[in-house]
Amino acid sequence: MVILCPVCWNETDATLVVCRNCGAMVDLYSAAYERQLAAELDRCDAKRRALICWTLGYRGRRSAIPVLVERLRDPDSQVCEAAVRSLGEIGDPSVADAVKKVLTTENDGLRSAAQYVLRTLLGSRAEL
Ligand SMILES: [Zn+2]
Repeated sequence: MVILCPVCWNETDATLVVCRNCGAMVDLYSAAYERQLAAELDRCDAKRRALICWTLGYRGRRSAIPVLVERLRDPDSQVCEAAVRSLGEIGDPSVADAVKKVLTTENDGLRSAAQYVLRTLLGSRAEL
């Protein structure tokens, strides 16, 4: 798994504490790192937005849920899919209604990601 360095924004290995590129400390589970990721989401390109969503999912912290739910409306389908799957990783059933809205998309890959995540979150209650 790769995560993003909050200083140089290069990809770095999630198991490292120090960025391989710039040497900055990456405190993966800190609130500060989460804030840096969320702030970057509003100003970067789609590839980085998707990586930020994956990183938030990998961390597995419920505090990232509002940021990820907001990305379900991202104009880029790769970013939406990363947000959907990361919400699945975090695994909080309270996001099911937000994920259900994604089922109306024309994008097959995105729709099946949403279906998969809803089954993960709701089990037999998913009613798909
Ligand atoms: Zn770095």
